[in-house]
Amino acid sequence: MAKKTKNVKVTFLGGVGEIGKNMTVIECGEDMIVVDMGVSFPKEDSPGMDAIIPDITYLKQNIKRLRGIVLTHGHEDHIGAIPYYADELKRVPIYGTSLTIGLVRRKLEKSAKKCNLITVAAGDTVVLGGIKVEFIKVCHSMAGACALAVYTDGGTVFVTGDFKIDNTPIDGKQTNLQRIAEIGAKGVTLMLGESTNVERKGSSTSEMVVGQNLANIFQANAKKRLIVACFASSNYRVQQVLALAHRYGRKVVLAGKSMKSIVDVASACGELNVPKGVIVDGIGKLKPSEALILATGSQGEPLSALNKLSKGEFNKINIGSDDVVVLSSSPIPGNEKSVYDVINALFRKGAEVIYDSMNDIHVSGHAYEEELKLMLTLVHPTYFMPVHGEYRHQYKHAAIAKALGVQSKNIVIPNIGESYSVTAKGIRKHSNVPAGNTYVDGVILEDGEAVVSDRRSLAEYGMLLLLAEADLERGTLIGDVDIVARGFNLTDEVRRNVKNAVAEAVNTSDFDKADVDEYAKVIKKTIRKLFGKDRQFPIVIPVVVEA
Ligand SMILES: [Zn+2]
Ligand SMILES: [Zn+2]
Repeated sequence: MAKKTKNVKVTFLGGVGEIGKNMTVIECGEDMIVVDMGVSFPKEDSPGMDAIIPDITYLKQNIKRLRGIVLTHGHEDHIGAIPYYADELKRVPIYGTSLTIGLVRRKLEKSAKKCNLITVAAGDTVVLGGIKVEFIKVCHSMAGACALAVYTDGGTVFVTGDFKIDNTPIDGKQTNLQRIAEIGAKGVTLMLGESTNVERKGSSTSEMVVGQNLANIFQANAKKRLIVACFASSNYRVQQVLALAHRYGRKVVLAGKSMKSIVDVASACGELNVPKGVIVDGIGKLKPSEALILATGSQGEPLSALNKLSKGEFNKINIGSDDVVVLSSSPIPGNEKSVYDVINALFRKGAEVIYDSMNDIHVSGHAYEEELKLMLTLVHPTYFMPVHGEYRHQYKHAAIAKALGVQSKNIVIPNIGESYSVTAKGIRKHSNVPAGNTYVDGVILEDGEAVVSDRRSLAEYGMLLLLAEADLERGTLIGDVDIVARGFNLTDEVRRNVKNAVAEAVNTSDFDKADVDEYAKVIKKTIRKLFGKDRQFPIVIPVVVEA
């Protein structure tokens, strides 16, 4: 009798307890693979950072066993970290469908890096050492999305990836429910299920509906110029806008770098059909009724095309009463204010603005509750772990799995850095691996947490630069302490305290009065004391020079 002797182990380097920087390690015996390698985008709590990427210490420690990286789809939260780690991963094959790999290639070209990229099609199975990975077509807000069945000697792990169940997708390619049901019937040991929209009741709306509503907007505004903003990566949305423009005799100007480049990549790999002659370089002499601007910036991003348009800073285009602006998106939580700022600015200029809260001009690419239930029913796993969500999403998804018959002892809500083996006997938790936020500001920051914390202090509490001259023989500060303060004023008190503290410190035995750094240390300590234990203090930069 064939007996499973090996365990399958999963380790979460990102994408759990958060929506962003998805990255999961799956291992069996000597073989290891990675599913996705994404970024998350910094919020106000990490000012000025370009991106946050997963910590890959664990991969580096096991690089000899890493057989490949498999990508579910081409969204930034699944592929965005690859260029930053391209050097470490040079020899590791990276697999994805054509649009996914096309987008990775474009990112690598931008950063002049190279990786071993391999294009597969939905339905393909790749062999990575002793692990086999099957790519299964799922619907999502972009083409080329796949669920993954990871076959190991320790059992099958089913990764849903980001998905929805759309019965009328605009490219006619539905989520392959038959294949998922077959895999489920053969026995899935562990399912990792995305949880983004678990809080939404019912089922998501088909992408097709957006097209119908957009067509109504084209008809109702035949004399006006149309400006449509959406995610550049939402290639089905872009497809519908291009087709409608063609049908209603409008030329399309692409506004925003990512819009242009994703349209290039998607049409090159056959996932976008651009009607001949529909895209033009500039607005030129086109009448409002003949023009459509397809822009990035549906999230109110400060440097995006839509934001610039709203301020009259884009290619000398003036927005006014001849314009109808359509935001074919909904604000990602946290972006509401920037989105509404842009909407306000556009209304002020006299434009008509149509956005999601009034019309069905956006649908989500993520499964709602009923779709998640269907997926769980088809896959019918022994063990279940909810991923791709904040804790509340994971919690609710876990409850659904339980209601659908997965035993509670077989459901785990994983946290970042956690590692589990699933065996016939149950789930075993291993010790945590290094994981967390790695910050990128141009380059990967060695001590990113400290930089972020400094920036937060700077933003909230200001900065204090103290310049002093010290007589290293006598152990005193000479003259006044020069103080440059930004963000608050307290200078007199600071000056007095610093002088007194140095005078006291010089008499203590461990103070080396010949060392300028000792004075600086005392100054720093004094300021902290001055601001009290419970209060946050400004960034303190003491500069002490020898007199
Ligand atoms: Zn996605
Ligand atoms: Zn995602």
